[in-house]
Amino acid sequence: MSTSTISLDQLIAWLSRFRDLVTEKQSYLTELDSAIGDADHGANMVRGMNAVVEKIGAEPATAADALLKSVGMTLVTSVGGASGPLYGTLFLRMGVNAGPVTELDAAALGAALRAGLEGVVARGKAEAGDKTMFDAIAPALDAWDVAVADGADVAAAASVALTAADKGRLATEPLVARKGRASYLGERSAGHIDPGATSSTLLFQALVDTVSS
Ligand code: ADP
Ligand code: MG
Repeated sequence: MSTSTISLDQLIAWLSRFRDLVTEKQSYLTELDSAIGDADHGANMVRGMNAVVEKIGAEPATAADALLKSVGMTLVTSVGGASGPLYGTLFLRMGVNAGPVTELDAAALGAALRAGLEGVVARGKAEAGDKTMFDAIAPALDAWDVAVADGADVAAAASVALTAADKGRLATEPLVARKGRASYLGERSAGHIDPGATSSTLLFQALVDTVSS
């Protein structure tokens, strides 16, 4: 059954599914970060999302803003790498944008995700083509907005966003990194897919799995 809006329970299921996917792909994320970083992206994401799932299980939220802000705070405090503050900011800003609601339609969820991306940019200054998570998330949200303008529900918007995220992720391979640890490698960062763009794609995969099943 497809879903026209996303409920609080589904937001929680999305986060839990994201935890499962980063856990499943931990060694792949580690392998990508070994090539152009310090081999901790898999461990960072698993540690952070385990902390998130534990936190939201212990303190059930009653609205989207409280839930997402708690997710963001947990990531900021539990992950040491660049990805902790960046993903943390994404969820914090999503929460602020979503407000005290118990469900979000496709337009509202897209707007919250975009506010999250703007937070990532405010914090990390990434631009298109810098070989970061931005290169998966930005095209995903552009595709999301086009789909919503055409009347897509959450499930349909998430599906086109996932396709665009994965395309953006794969397109990071030839790029020379201009942000983060990978940028220290200069030209040698080319020829490898960005780890953060890969975990970000899993965020959209988790959403598709949650709202389409
Ligand atoms: P660290 O680089 O501190 O070891 P991680 O390995 O967990 O942290 O995360 C690395 C990922 O973080 C990169 O693959 C990239 O996608 C993302 N990243 C790093 N710096 C930035 C930035 N300034 N803006 C956006 N994303 C960034
Ligand atoms: Mg790393």
